[in-house]
Amino acid sequence: MNDSTLIANDAQQIVQHHLDQLGQPSEHILSTEEKQQKFEQIATELKKQNAVLVAHYYCHPDIQELAEWTGGCISDSLEMARYGRDHEASTLVVAGVKFMGETAKILSPEKTILMPTLEATCSLDLGCPVDEFTTFCDAHPDHTVVVYANTSAAVKARADWVVTSSCAVEIIEHLDSLGEKIIWAPDQHLGGYIKKKTGADMLLWQGSCIVHEEFRARGIARMKALYPDAAVLVHPESPESVVAIADAVGSTSQLIKAAQTLPHKQMIVATDRGIFYKMQQAAPDKELIEAPTAGEGASCRSCAHCPWMAMNELDAILHVLQYRDQEIFVEEKLRQRAKVPLDRMLNFTSQLKR
Ligand code: SF4
Repeated sequence: MNDSTLIANDAQQIVQHHLDQLGQPSEHILSTEEKQQKFEQIATELKKQNAVLVAHYYCHPDIQELAEWTGGCISDSLEMARYGRDHEASTLVVAGVKFMGETAKILSPEKTILMPTLEATCSLDLGCPVDEFTTFCDAHPDHTVVVYANTSAAVKARADWVVTSSCAVEIIEHLDSLGEKIIWAPDQHLGGYIKKKTGADMLLWQGSCIVHEEFRARGIARMKALYPDAAVLVHPESPESVVAIADAVGSTSQLIKAAQTLPHKQMIVATDRGIFYKMQQAAPDKELIEAPTAGEGASCRSCAHCPWMAMNELDAILHVLQYRDQEIFVEEKLRQRAKVPLDRMLNFTSQLKR
């Protein structure tokens, strides 16, 4: 057990405490007319306030549909950051979890960043408190600090690089080619996957995503027995044994692409089920099957759907536009420090695109 494991045990308790505080998501299913009425009310407010809705793939399909319908964006956290930064709107409504709103503010301080709720967080962010993480980094001063986007602004400010799952492998390969030793935080599974793939010298923080760590290789193998011709698509925040049986491993955007390009007609998908909305649009002729989790999807709060992402509801979006009371602020000095590693990632990935 290393020092980051000891800290992670404390962090797990923090995550559990947060989960215990969560209320139940709204069970009210809107009729088509009710939904359309809400869409129109929200669209009117967005227009009036020169605002745009930026939503993550893990949000409820209604929120993703709303983002499309109002001319906003649905994407992974890397593209959300870029889209928000480059959009001309003066207000961004970020439907996702808190670190996404903070990232938007870090990159666009002149914009007002609203979120449907500031309570929506992430087990990776919670599991990497800045004081403990700083102590860990200070104990390894010869290491380059690389943090996943799923971290607080304060943790980003302590880092040399920020990465998302769609560019992490390339950035670590680049640092490894320069002979750098790396501290990776917070997701242990994604870190382990990249370490194995690149052979880089990496010290791993022991955080995890409560959604992806619930996937189990045994359950997926049983599912595969029922659908022997299906491809298995896995997000690398899942445990190593799950990644090992995947036909495609990647970020949300990369998995959507895999669903389109793999020849299989059926896909067993091991990531948050919110992704099905865009994946089905991208691959309309494919059958998408939810990968089973440890709780078999029965009653577990974090089984294949993030409880914090679920807090992004239509009513909450309308409310925040009307009252503007869920605004993200990042202290200016901290923002400037956190922007440095974020800009490094955005510049690096822009060059990859060329
Ligand atoms: S799905 Fe996992 S990584 Fe994504 S916000 Fe939820 S807890 Fe965090």
